[in-house]
Amino acid sequence: MAAPAEERVALVLGHLDYGESDRILRLLIAEDGLVPALARGARKSTKRFGGALDVGDRARVMIRPGRGELWHLDGAELLDGRPRCRDDLGRICLLPYLCEWGLNLAREGHDESRLFGLLDVALTVLDGVSAPPSDLFRLGFEAKALTFAGLAPQLTRCVSCAAALGEEPLVYDVGLGGVAHARCGGGLPLSADDAARLERARRTPLVELIDESPLECSPWLFAEHNRWHTHRDLKSLKVLQSVV
Ligand SMILES: [Zn+2]
Repeated sequence: MAAPAEERVALVLGHLDYGESDRILRLLIAEDGLVPALARGARKSTKRFGGALDVGDRARVMIRPGRGELWHLDGAELLDGRPRCRDDLGRICLLPYLCEWGLNLAREGHDESRLFGLLDVALTVLDGVSAPPSDLFRLGFEAKALTFAGLAPQLTRCVSCAAALGEEPLVYDVGLGGVAHARCGGGLPLSADDAARLERARRTPLVELIDESPLECSPWLFAEHNRWHTHRDLKSLKVLQSVV
């Protein structure tokens, strides 16, 4: 007998059309981590799934284990469709980018409560602002996500020799995973002030990072860090870079 469906709250991180009318969803669920789920007839019956099948949506879902890795999605009810995130190009591109971070870092079959909470807050803040938030908002999200995935960027001392950053030239070394003296590592240059601001962003609630002045260094340090350590490309990165 098939296992009974269980109710969960999920974030939709991605979807893929399958067959004539089905859709495979990639869901982030706090208790279960990344859950790939088959929604039969999802492209025909919008009623059964409450329209809750777009990237970034928070939905109440009924899921049950299937054979193999794919779960079955029996129904969904939309809780938050982030409607205002589609108001400007910056946020239209940032929403799937943040969700792709969830896809890259969340594990299947693991509790991912912290990543779930972070992404849900980020999308809620994004939906509540009237213009795209600062780079530091995104970098703060990225630094927190890396930290929750066990890949915390080292920003307060040299990641190579462990000494204080001091007054000398610094770089962000993605392979070593943090800030290094230029003589100790390689990578994009950054100032001690940038390193301090990034560490502050890592520890500051996202809602307090909406209006921040730009950094001097590349704003894509953590995207590179992610790519290096997960060996996965961020497909939405190029699109986002083209609009900011
Ligand atoms: Zn050093």
